Amino acid sequence: MNDRLFNTDAIILRRSDFGEADRLLTVFTPHRGKLRLVAKGVRKTKSKKAGHIELFTHASLQVATGRNLDILTQADTVQAYRALRDDLDKISHAYYVTELVDKFTEEHDPHYPIFELLALTLARLADGSPNEQFLALRFMEIHLLGLTGFQPQLFLCVDCGKKIEPVENYFHISRGGVMCPDCGQNHPHADPIPLGTLKVLRFLQTRPWEQIAGVQLKADTRRAVENLLLRYITFTLEKKLKSVDFLRKLRKG
Ligand SMILES: [Zn+2]
Repeated sequence: MNDRLFNTDAIILRRSDFGEADRLLTVFTPHRGKLRLVAKGVRKTKSKKAGHIELFTHASLQVATGRNLDILTQADTVQAYRALRDDLDKISHAYYVTELVDKFTEEHDPHYPIFELLALTLARLADGSPNEQFLALRFMEIHLLGLTGFQPQLFLCVDCGKKIEPVENYFHISRGGVMCPDCGQNHPHADPIPLGTLKVLRFLQTRPWEQIAGVQLKADTRRAVENLLLRYITFTLEKKLKSVDFLRKLRKG
């Protein structure tokens, strides 16, 4: 039996009720990627495990591999990110980042940098000022896109390949990045991108967090950056879901 047990750190991404007293957990681990586990009996009041598998908690887990589903056998808190639970903004931000990781990853696909990014982001959301929380979310978005193969191109025109100059350029969501003025003005789906917005996106994509954390943005730049990333992520997830659907159909066929 022992050879079918393993220990792992994990961040709890999602949980749902399962059976009479159990929970089904979706967790992200450093070296095994995303896993789904059954936590038995944790909805009973005397459960010792329950407090260690709250949403967003970084926990140390012992897991028994099962025929169908893996079973959680022990859990201890590594980092509770308790301050995340202080206010509704923080909780909704934490929901958002764990949902992003869930949507952008597949089960049993190890990806240590994503685990690290998620853990650091939760800490920044828990303890950062509202401005740092905003920047931490945008930093997470742009780096998660990069780590999962959807990095937006911000330096070369996605149409002609020329270096992007510091003027007003265009952004083309479905082509995955910036277009120079010559190409962008002829594309019906390219939208003008203000230079300030492009600079912030490049800064987020290329600089370490320590340089980003103190940046103060104007309200309209904040909104523009947030909206553009949200549109890009929404488009990317739809495309990703379609390609997963397509692969499933192909396999079945
Ligand atoms: Zn071009």
